Amino acid sequence: MAGAQTALALRQGGWRGPIALVGEERHPPYDRPPLSKDVLLGKRDSTELDIDWQDLGIELLTGRRATAVAPGILHTDGGELPYRGLVIATGAAPIALPGSDGARVLRTVDDALALRADLVPGARLVLVGAGWIGAETATVARQSGCEVTVVEAGPAPLAGALPAGLGALMADWYAAAGAELRCGTGVSAIEADAVVLTDGTRLPADHVVVGIGARPATGWLAGSGIELDAAGAILVDGWLRTSAEHVWAAGDCVSYPSARSGTRLSVQHWDHALQSGRAVAASVLGTALGQAAGEAYDPVPYFWSEQFGRMVQYAGRHTEGDLLVWRGSAQDPDWAVLWLREGRLAGVLGVDRPRDVNQARRLIAAGTVLDPVKAADPSVQLKAAVA
Ligand SMILES: Cc1cc2nc3c(=O)[nH]c(=O)nc-3n(C[C@H](O)[C@H](O)[C@H](O)COP(=O)(O)OP(=O)(O)OC[C@H]3O[C@@H](n4cnc5c(N)ncnc54)[C@H](O)[C@@H]3O)c2cc1C
Repeated sequence: MAGAQTALALRQGGWRGPIALVGEERHPPYDRPPLSKDVLLGKRDSTELDIDWQDLGIELLTGRRATAVAPGILHTDGGELPYRGLVIATGAAPIALPGSDGARVLRTVDDALALRADLVPGARLVLVGAGWIGAETATVARQSGCEVTVVEAGPAPLAGALPAGLGALMADWYAAAGAELRCGTGVSAIEADAVVLTDGTRLPADHVVVGIGARPATGWLAGSGIELDAAGAILVDGWLRTSAEHVWAAGDCVSYPSARSGTRLSVQHWDHALQSGRAVAASVLGTALGQAAGEAYDPVPYFWSEQFGRMVQYAGRHTEGDLLVWRGSAQDPDWAVLWLREGRLAGVLGVDRPRDVNQARRLIAAGTVLDPVKAADPSVQLKAAVA
């Protein structure tokens, strides 16, 4: 997504020179969010982007892997490509569980189509990881009539992303959907027909899916001199420039400085891929045309997830110590939680409350101070809860 958006925005922004879009997968650029939703459900087979690359004069080099970067040259398994400017947007790759060779992961359209074939009524599916991918896969697997067990090492679903109290509420969604959730236990072995847990339990399994997160796909940059952080994310500045000259980066594979958040952020969500792709194109064009740099890249982070019949959305970034304000209650069909920092709206989690989340995105961007009493009243529009 980030690479495709960059190429598109470069062309739309007036770049007349040649553009090549290099990708390891054999498919033209496509959207990943529907993979764990409509594609798994069998509603769609392809999520290819509706872009006429040929018409735009963008050369698509699919099925081609970048192997190394040297100044002015991208090495690939199909030969060298000289460049004037290089944008790295290699995304992220699923983290593997040791000994999980026979298990499935869900990152590519090929992964989704292979997993879909497993989701037949009565199939026993063990999912490792109750994160976003785990929840969405569990949703579809239950709809497909599979017996589903989800194993989560943390104390609750989404333990890394949300306070445990909120994750615990989501545990109820698994139960209501008929999926068994086992938190606080790891996996000690994956066998041909079972998953063995660290507490000794043996879960019979026809299929195993591992969804325990993704790491920046940047191993191929070793020795390039391009600086990475400890997690392997490419360190970029506010204009998405890497430590190497004429090399930029965008999407899931980067860590960028966020003045808004007071820290560097690595965001592995669709909206960031889209926006950073557009921003990096502006940065490349600005450099090529000798223009003054525009504003640093620092949007309000945003993502959504569709799970257990609910639209879950999150915007901003909460930290420990923020004031947590409920809008409605978890017993309501829809609700939202706000995080206020020194009165300003810093983050929002909405469950079937898209209007709240949309308004919150704007209020967070503007650094608006909210009245916590008004903000807690779900019948008051969030934008009307300004202090
Ligand atoms: C199943 C699934 C569901 C998702 N659902 C949501 C959602 O509901 N909401 C949301 O906000 N986000 C969602 N996301 C996240 C979102 O799709 C990603 O954040 C987004 O795709 C990142 O875009 P990207 O361009 O940075 O990386 P990618 O989409 O990963 O693209 C990177 C491309 O680079 C290729 N590549 C890697 N290494 C090399 C190399 N050495 N040489 C050549 N090519 C290489 C890869 O094959 C890949 O095609 C989902 C992701 C997945 C996998």
